Amino acid sequence: MAKLTRAMSRDGSLRAIVTDAPDIVNRAIQIHDTNPTATAAIGRVLLGASMMGSLMSEPDDLLTLRVVGDGIAGSIVVSADSFGNVRGFIQNPKAELPLREDGKLNVGGIVGSGNLYVLRDVGGEEPYNGICPLQSGEIAEDIAYYYAKSEQIPAVCALGVLVDVDYSCKAAGGVLIQLLPFADPEVVDILEKNVMRTTSVTDMLQRGGTELLLNTFLTGIEYDVFDNLETEYRCNCSKERTDKALLSLNDEARAELLIDGQLEMNCQFCDKKYIYTREELEKLYEQP
Ligand SMILES: [Zn+2]
Repeated sequence: MAKLTRAMSRDGSLRAIVTDAPDIVNRAIQIHDTNPTATAAIGRVLLGASMMGSLMSEPDDLLTLRVVGDGIAGSIVVSADSFGNVRGFIQNPKAELPLREDGKLNVGGIVGSGNLYVLRDVGGEEPYNGICPLQSGEIAEDIAYYYAKSEQIPAVCALGVLVDVDYSCKAAGGVLIQLLPFADPEVVDILEKNVMRTTSVTDMLQRGGTELLLNTFLTGIEYDVFDNLETEYRCNCSKERTDKALLSLNDEARAELLIDGQLEMNCQFCDKKYIYTREELEKLYEQP
C-alpha cells in the first residue's frame, strides 16, 4: 500500500498533499515492463495524478492526466479517483535515453515538448477540461505550471522516482502545495524559501517518510494533518465494461469481429485479458 497525507496550514493560506508510493510505481513496472526512464516518467505522472485526484471533493469524481509530448515515450495517460488511487499507461514502456549530465534520468528528454491535458469528470456536470503546454516534460514543473496558468492557483509540485539497479522502484513520492485565495504573503514568502532549500524528494522519503517531506516544505508554517489515506494502483476494468465497448461498435466492425472468431482484449491499464469466443460474441450481439 502507498500512503497519501493531506494537510492544511492553520491560517488557511495553503493546502498540502504528500505521498510515499513506491508500491504504485512497482505495480506499474510489473504491468508495463518499463525501462528505468520510462518508469520515472509514468511514475511521476502516477504520483502527480494521485495527489491531484485527492483534491476532488466527491467519491465518484475522476481525474485523467494526459502527457502528450513528441518524445520517444509517446503519450502517458493516468486516471485517478478522489481517494488517490491511480492507474495508467505509457505508449512506449521501453523509452530510454542516456542519463543527463547531472546523473538523473532524462524524463524530459523522452517526453519531449507538447501539452498536458487535465480532464475532471465530476458526476452529472459537464467535465472540466484543461490544457497547457509542457514546460520541461519533467512532470512536476508541468503540473505546477498547469495550476498557475489554467486554474490560476499558484502551486508547488515536486516528484521523485528512484529506480534501483534491478529496475525496480526503490523510492517514490511527491508533494503538491496549493496556495488558497487570500494567502498570507508572509506564509508565501516562507514557503518560497523552503522550496529553494529542499533537496531530493526520494532522499527525504527514505530518511523520514512523508512526515519529513511535509516538515521540510512547511518549516516555519503551522499546519494540521487532516487525514492519511492508503492508496494503490487500482484498475476498474471489468467484463461488463468490455461488453459495453463491444456493444458500442457499428455493424461493420461487429461483422469483422465475428469473422475473426475468438477475440482477446487486453486492458491498457492492467494485466487483465478478456477473451470472447465466437459464441459469446454472437450472444452479446443478439441482445436488443
Ligand atoms: Zn484493467
